[in-house]
Amino acid sequence: MMYTAPMASIKTIWDFQSKCHEGVPILMFHKVGRCPAAANMPRMYVSPAHLNKLMDLFHRKALRSISISDALEGNTRRKNCFVISFDDAYEGALIHALPIMKKHGFSAIVFIVADLLGQRNNWCHGEDTTMEPLMTRTQVEEWLSAGFEIGAHTLTHPRLTSIPLLKAKNEIAGSKRKLEDLFGVPVRHFAYPWGDYNSAVMDLVEEAGFRTACSCDPGVVTNGVNRFRLPRFDTDERSVRSFSTYKLAYLSDDFKNLAARGMRAAGSSLEAARLKFLTW
Ligand SMILES: [Zn+2]
Repeated sequence: MMYTAPMASIKTIWDFQSKCHEGVPILMFHKVGRCPAAANMPRMYVSPAHLNKLMDLFHRKALRSISISDALEGNTRRKNCFVISFDDAYEGALIHALPIMKKHGFSAIVFIVADLLGQRNNWCHGEDTTMEPLMTRTQVEEWLSAGFEIGAHTLTHPRLTSIPLLKAKNEIAGSKRKLEDLFGVPVRHFAYPWGDYNSAVMDLVEEAGFRTACSCDPGVVTNGVNRFRLPRFDTDERSVRSFSTYKLAYLSDDFKNLAARGMRAAGSSLEAARLKFLTW
């Protein structure tokens, strides 16, 4: 997607573990589900199968998911902890990701576009060939009753630095008010649509009563981090696949898939080379 900020992703489990020692990494997911062949933004997707493998790996490495509030708490550096976040509140986060996270004892926050419950990511209209359904009010209630957290992602997903300040104020404060009224829980955390912010927008988030705001800037949460510019790591299918512990399993899966598609070694050498590159 056309984020204004450059995004970083974590490529290997060793890389991830070292980030968990430097501070607390916040992972950012968008769509969870099988990526349709027609998708022109495949980076937005993570498949449930690969998400499950990733969570399983984190679990086996004794890594723990914590809330954003916990990541910021206290003076001691939190080791082996990370935060899971989902932007936009696609229903795949509830249907596919929530059971996987629960199974591994993990939790997450979902950042909701407050005026678009039950609709699609229509802010990408004309850009995204596979717009996906967003959670309905009932689905958000299910998310909350599972003990998971919600945060705000404006009312309509605008680029906050490109609209008049008064409008930005309404998008930010309005989304907090609306979600708190609808769901009766405090909404403490915000995420900038498109990772787009400036100091005026950061001030509006603070004035609205939020405790933190997530950006798409690279980095980990450490003591002294600016609470209204929390860094995050993008997590798409390709980066999840490249977690090297699984490279053999993935290679064998990939070749099975190639065989199923009837691709012979001669014709598929380029594809095989590409897959090999991806999986290493
Ligand atoms: Zn978004």
